[in-house]
Amino acid sequence: MTKNSVIPSPSYAVREANGPLGPFHVDRRLPGPRDVLIEIDYCGVCHTDLHYVLNTWGNAVYPVVPGHEIIGHVISLGADVNDLQLGQRVGVGCLVGSCGHCDACQHGEESYCTEGLVLTYNTPVPDPGGITYGGFSKRITVDRDFVLVMPEGLDSARAAPLLCAGITTYSPMRRWKVGPGQRVGVIGLGGLGHIALEIAHAMGATTDLITHSEAKAAEAARFGAEDALISSDTDAMTRAEGQFDFILDTVPVPHRFDTYVPLLKRGGVLCIVGAFAADMTFDPTAMNMQHRIVTGSFIGGLRETQEMLDFCGAHGIEAEIELITMSEINAAMARLEAGDVKYRFVIDLSSLAES
Ligand code: NAP
Ligand code: ZN
Repeated sequence: MTKNSVIPSPSYAVREANGPLGPFHVDRRLPGPRDVLIEIDYCGVCHTDLHYVLNTWGNAVYPVVPGHEIIGHVISLGADVNDLQLGQRVGVGCLVGSCGHCDACQHGEESYCTEGLVLTYNTPVPDPGGITYGGFSKRITVDRDFVLVMPEGLDSARAAPLLCAGITTYSPMRRWKVGPGQRVGVIGLGGLGHIALEIAHAMGATTDLITHSEAKAAEAARFGAEDALISSDTDAMTRAEGQFDFILDTVPVPHRFDTYVPLLKRGGVLCIVGAFAADMTFDPTAMNMQHRIVTGSFIGGLRETQEMLDFCGAHGIEAEIELITMSEINAAMARLEAGDVKYRFVIDLSSLAES
């Protein structure tokens, strides 16, 4: 490829497991007829980005440019894109492509695509560089079908985390019909957890935080939680048995799911969205005895992501963030690993120089 047949995009990458993130040059493809070229304004820092820094899952292909909570504005449009405008505020989440024809894609569940899922970073593609690079970057070229329209009213930096944390928590709550009259528990007051509490509350459920950090218990009410359960308080955990219709587990490290199963009502659902690679030990007794369900969920489809954004726009749901510059990312990653963030780091990409 000649130099002017690509779009230069200064970025930050991690070059080896456990290594620091540092400046890295990415070339984006020129927009094709169905593509949108986006100048990135903000990008959230998800715990998944940290998993790729640490290579938790063993699948990182370095250098990795993380970032899949992207908000930006359109700077160029392919000839066949007629429903977006130059300058328009848009979002990009965890997916930038899928096969379009498998059963999941046909049902608008692109995150479950079995034949051609393209994640926003670390997926091999024919683009310059041969692999997708994420949103710790100045700009990105994305197929129109994977570009979300941001509702008016939401602050761009605070809305960025909705693109992953929002849809990852909204999708299972929709699937399991969270609503009025239900009690919902959210395990972990982190990036996903604080948004999950807000969304469940807006869906009309009574919500409780379940946390392993005593200090966070007092903060749960700010996100609409009625109560906070400290998971190490065995008396309180016993008293809470059989109370919950739905529990969302966002813990990012190996842990015993069966600690939480007894909290469910008969037929209640524990949905695991926290991601880690580990062989787990699990006592099924509490699940069997009350036909409780233990399940999982992975992001969400594009149609549902747009629905989630519109829902958050209508309810004023935004993340609580700490805004950082690109060069502060390594300190932010260390704090994220230590569980020391309230409650999402978001990078201001205007802080990243052009060269
Ligand atoms: P995060 O901001 O680090 O929050 C995770 C929370 O889990 C912490 O704030 C903490 O809350 C709790 N926690 C941490 N260590 C724990 C431990 N040892 N025992 C019990 N609880 C602990 O992470 P995040 O960005 O929300 O992401 C959470 C997980 O979801 C990650 O594994 C990420 O990769 C995954 N994820 C999955 C999907 C999907 O589609 N399934 C999408 C996005 C992210 P407390 O202090 O309140 O206990
Ligand atoms: Zn994420």
